[in-house]
Amino acid sequence: MALQKCHSRQSLGEVLDSLRAAGNDWALVPTMGALHDGHVALIRQAKAVCREVVVSVFVNPLQFGPSEDFRRYPRDVSRDAEIVRRAGGTVVFAPSSEEMIPKGLTVEVDPGRLGRVLCGRSRPGHFRGVCTIVAKLLNIVEPRYAFFGWKDAQQLVILRAMVRDLNMSVELVGCETIRESDGLAMSSRNVYLSKRERRMAPELYRALRTAWEAYAQFGERRSARLEGLVRQHVAQTTDAKLDYVKAVSLDDLTPLKEVEQGNTLLALAAWVGKTRLIDNVRL
Ligand code: AMP
Repeated sequence: MALQKCHSRQSLGEVLDSLRAAGNDWALVPTMGALHDGHVALIRQAKAVCREVVVSVFVNPLQFGPSEDFRRYPRDVSRDAEIVRRAGGTVVFAPSSEEMIPKGLTVEVDPGRLGRVLCGRSRPGHFRGVCTIVAKLLNIVEPRYAFFGWKDAQQLVILRAMVRDLNMSVELVGCETIRESDGLAMSSRNVYLSKRERRMAPELYRALRTAWEAYAQFGERRSARLEGLVRQHVAQTTDAKLDYVKAVSLDDLTPLKEVEQGNTLLALAAWVGKTRLIDNVRL
């Protein structure tokens, strides 16, 4: 079936009505566009669960700080639509800003403490912007499932808390991080990297792997040691500036003194030149 493209809630509503009438469930894959193989993996996994997959493409202004890259964030909806089609997505929902953020929007969804730690410390308001728009997308699209990447682990933990705390009737599914062959986590922001920065960037993941190996092979459980290994590797192999590296609980993002097996996120954010990259491993 041809890919359906909707730019308004109204036209999406009509498509969803026809899916409903045909007795279909559908899944939502929210994105900001500039799609890469990480997004494709999400769409494919959604497709394995639902025949109908709605991919939203919306560069959410509420989640960018005033000095961040909202204006220059890469945008190409026709290219994105073609990628969605090839990955098996059935509907693209690419609303305008006016459609998603009406003038006079005052009610937002604030994730509280969860939104103030890790990335939230250096990006105040970021996760409130994410929650507000994802809540709106879930209300508009009414999917049975919504797919998110572990690449943005804090986002996934926060959205799970939002769905639980606000009794939203959707099931969130987390998908593993897709990486380039040298280990760099795929990201729409990787295009900002210079050649030199691109060569350095995979060291962030290698640093996390060093800590992962110390944990898995040598039984190191002390968070401070594991975080120290990451810092050391990054300092020795790059001139990236770490924003944070932290071992936290996957339940509620509280700092852990020792790894809790199966419930620990070791996450980092770093500036590689002017580009802020994030990555993580779960222990
Ligand atoms: P974005 O377009 O960057 O907002 O990402 C949209 C969705 O794709 C989010 O759920 C991300 O976590 C997910 N995603 C982004 N990059 C990757 C990746 N490399 N692997 C898996 N999922 C990803």
